[in-house]
Amino acid sequence: MSAKQLTDLSQLCIHTITTKPWGIEEAAKNFSDEGVKGITVWRDALVNRNIRQTGHLLRNHGLEIVSLCRGGFFPAKEKKKREAAIDDNRKAIEEAVELGAPLIVLVCGADPAQPLEDSRKQIRWGIEAIIPDAAAAGVKLAIEPLHPMYADTRSAINTLAQANDMAVQLNSSTVGVAVDVYHLWWDPMLETEIKRCGENDHLFAFHICDWNTPTTDLLLDRGLMGDGAIPVNKIRAWVEATGFNGFYEVEIFSNKYWKEDQAEFLKKIIKAYKENS
Ligand code: ZN
Repeated sequence: MSAKQLTDLSQLCIHTITTKPWGIEEAAKNFSDEGVKGITVWRDALVNRNIRQTGHLLRNHGLEIVSLCRGGFFPAKEKKKREAAIDDNRKAIEEAVELGAPLIVLVCGADPAQPLEDSRKQIRWGIEAIIPDAAAAGVKLAIEPLHPMYADTRSAINTLAQANDMAVQLNSSTVGVAVDVYHLWWDPMLETEIKRCGENDHLFAFHICDWNTPTTDLLLDRGLMGDGAIPVNKIRAWVEATGFNGFYEVEIFSNKYWKEDQAEFLKKIIKAYKENS
C-alpha cells in the first residue's frame, strides 16, 4: 500500500524548530510566501514575545497553528520536581490558549535515577493531573512515543503500543497520541498500532522526517524525507487509512540543515514533501 503523491501544500505544516535559525516572525513570513499552510510552534520560539499577538501574526499570514511543542517531562524521583513539572504543563496550556493552538504535544519524560515503570506511573499521574485544565481550556494533549534511545531522560514511552495503552487507560477525549516516523519506523507493530489509534479515534498528530545512515548525532541529525531509511510514504498510507486528514508536520532537528541558508532549506523541504513523503 502506498499513499497518493502530495501535489499541493494544503496539509504541509512545519515546526518552528525545523528552521531554528529563523525567528518565528521570519519563519511565518517565509512559510506563508512559499504556500505552507500549517505551523507547529515550539515554546522556545515564544520567549520574549507577546504570545497572543504572535498567534494573530501567524494567522494573519494564513497559517493554521497545529500544535504547541512541548509539554510533558513529568517523571522525577523527587516529588518537588514532579509538582514543578505539572505547574509547567499548566503554563503550557495557558500558552496554547493565548497562542490559539488546539493541541500540546507531550514528550513525556524519564528519570534515569528510577526504573522505567516508575517513570511511566508518574507520566500517567502527571497527565491525569492536567486533563481537567486542558479540557476546560479546550486544548488536547498528544502523547508522543520516543525512540528507545531516549528512554533514559526524554521518555519512558517508547512504542506506539505503550502510548495507545496509556491513552486508552486515561480514557479522556482530551488525550490522544502523536505518531512521529523518526521514533517509530522500526517497530514491527507499527501498522497494527496505527490502526488501533484510528479505532480509538485518538490519532492527533503525524510528524515526518528521515533517519540518516549513519546517524552522527542522536538528537540533531534528522534527515529530510528521502535522505534515509524511513518509508515515510508507506507509513503515511497507514495513517491515512485511519481516516486521519490533519497536517503532515515536518520536524527536523539538524545541525547540518541549520547551517544552510534557511530559504534554500525551505525549498528542499517542499521538494522532499512532494517527492518523498
Ligand atoms: Zn515529533
